[in-house]
Amino acid sequence: MNYILVVNAGSSSIKFRLYSENNLVEIASALCERIEIDGLFKISYQVNDKLEKFEEKTNFSSHEVAIDYCLKKLVDLKIVNNLNEIIGVGHRVVQGGEISQSSLIDTKVLAEIEKCIKLAPLHNKPELEVIKIINKKIPNSKPVAVFDTSFHTTIPKLNNYYPIPKKWVDSFKIKKYGFHGTSYRYIYEKMESIIKKGRPLNLIVCHLGNGASICCIKNGKSFDTTMGFTPMAGLIMGTRCGDIDPSIADYLINQEKNSATAVFNSYNKESGLKAICGSSDFRDINANVLPGNEFEFARDIFAQKVANTISVYLNHLENKIDGIVFTGGIGENDDIVRNIICKKIFVKKISVNASKNKLKYDDYKKISGLFSPIKVYAVRTNEELKIAQDTKSFIK
Ligand code: ADP
Repeated sequence: MNYILVVNAGSSSIKFRLYSENNLVEIASALCERIEIDGLFKISYQVNDKLEKFEEKTNFSSHEVAIDYCLKKLVDLKIVNNLNEIIGVGHRVVQGGEISQSSLIDTKVLAEIEKCIKLAPLHNKPELEVIKIINKKIPNSKPVAVFDTSFHTTIPKLNNYYPIPKKWVDSFKIKKYGFHGTSYRYIYEKMESIIKKGRPLNLIVCHLGNGASICCIKNGKSFDTTMGFTPMAGLIMGTRCGDIDPSIADYLINQEKNSATAVFNSYNKESGLKAICGSSDFRDINANVLPGNEFEFARDIFAQKVANTISVYLNHLENKIDGIVFTGGIGENDDIVRNIICKKIFVKKISVNASKNKLKYDDYKKISGLFSPIKVYAVRTNEELKIAQDTKSFIK
């Protein structure tokens, strides 16, 4: 049997998904965590239609050690017979710079990913390292890069231009790149299959997870999005501040004698919901809400910003919209937040059906009431499957 491996590398973790190549059924899902700290490995996998699990504390002193461990486990647990059965490896790459589509990784693509490290150091650096390691370990497989930025190359200049001196815009390629593109592509195709209009759709897709963004899709193409030059811009997120006055950085650097790096590290890791209420996880936030407390405020300010953005994007779409979609960990699972957001959209009186909103679901559901002027959906995203599909297209 042949397989496609999907790899999502971060600075201290690597997520793997293994798919059968012929019908893209998920065979295994593995996670190497706490790389360069200590090491934790988790895997769940299908054997003879039974779901098995294995977990081990170990020592991942580097990304290479973690990859070696995971690949060896795939063979030892008899999930694959040997690594040559993995004929394609799809890598999630956050920043693709000038590359607009998923690409077979050759020296030119590797060079572009390396060039983009400057734009997204937290993401592109470990991703590049992991691509090189896996190319060495499974040399016969086809490596494919799938970029988070790719869906947004259609955003018009009117929506992606930053009004700073042109010499910077031009020489440093500063513009709104946008992220979560693989999720938006997956959701767009899913929505086409759900609402079958036979023409390109107008959608507002809210990908609300730990990292959160919204995409305005006009005539089937990304027209605007909330993340920008980096994934720090836009909405309030778990630990990221989103859009704030750029001068705050300069002020803090001077006031607290901080380095720019320290301030931006705090913008990334100690801001957002965590800074407001102490937790970045909406399960904790919902559980602790009391009238007037900081958890209620965190939920409210998050929802308000999402609702305001939806209202702006309704204007982008000239009020012609086929649906609002909620996805990502919060968007898919949190009926309370979905309801609050919809209630805060005042330019249209959207109604949410309370029981449909609460209903358990696997794939997607419509949550809007019968007479709502805009249909609202909750849809489970699947970025890994999209990466596997793209990778497969290079194998055929
Ligand atoms: P990312 O991929 O950006 O790391 P996810 O899309 O996996 O994030 O979303 C993770 C977040 O989703 C959690 O931090 C939590 O806030 C939220 N979440 C996950 N499950 C639930 C749930 N059942 N109810 C409410 N929020 C949830």
